[in-house]
Amino acid sequence: MCSQTPAAALDLVMDATASRRARRFLDEHWCTVHAASARPQADLVVTELVSNAVRHGAPPATLTLDCAGAAGVTVGVSDADPHAPTLRHVTPDALGGRGIALVDVLSEDWGVDPHPGGKTVWSRILGDVPGDVPGGEELPAR
Ligand SMILES: [Zn+2]
Repeated sequence: MCSQTPAAALDLVMDATASRRARRFLDEHWCTVHAASARPQADLVVTELVSNAVRHGAPPATLTLDCAGAAGVTVGVSDADPHAPTLRHVTPDALGGRGIALVDVLSEDWGVDPHPGGKTVWSRILGDVPGDVPGGEELPAR
């Protein structure tokens, strides 16, 4: 739970603009109080999860963002294809197709939750350590 930034969700348009839209969504809804330093990882993870959904998933797809304070930020991409992404085809030097291996490296934890009619691939990215959280910094009201 985050007292500063509410959880947010974005309906993904399943085309080549999806990753750019997703990063703009992070710009608008990111919790800078708890997770300012985790933003670069989140950009990479979200880009990967969203492009996976666009390439291999089935619409409709949704991106969710949820800050849990010091426990980190959870991003998730749900789509209507029940097949989970896999590490199978990835080798350490496969720079072009890092896929879910990149998510694995950048996430504190990640997983795939199947649900009726599809799945959610989620990643928890560690936010700022509690001692580093700036006091009194507030997001401007939107
Ligand atoms: Zn927060």
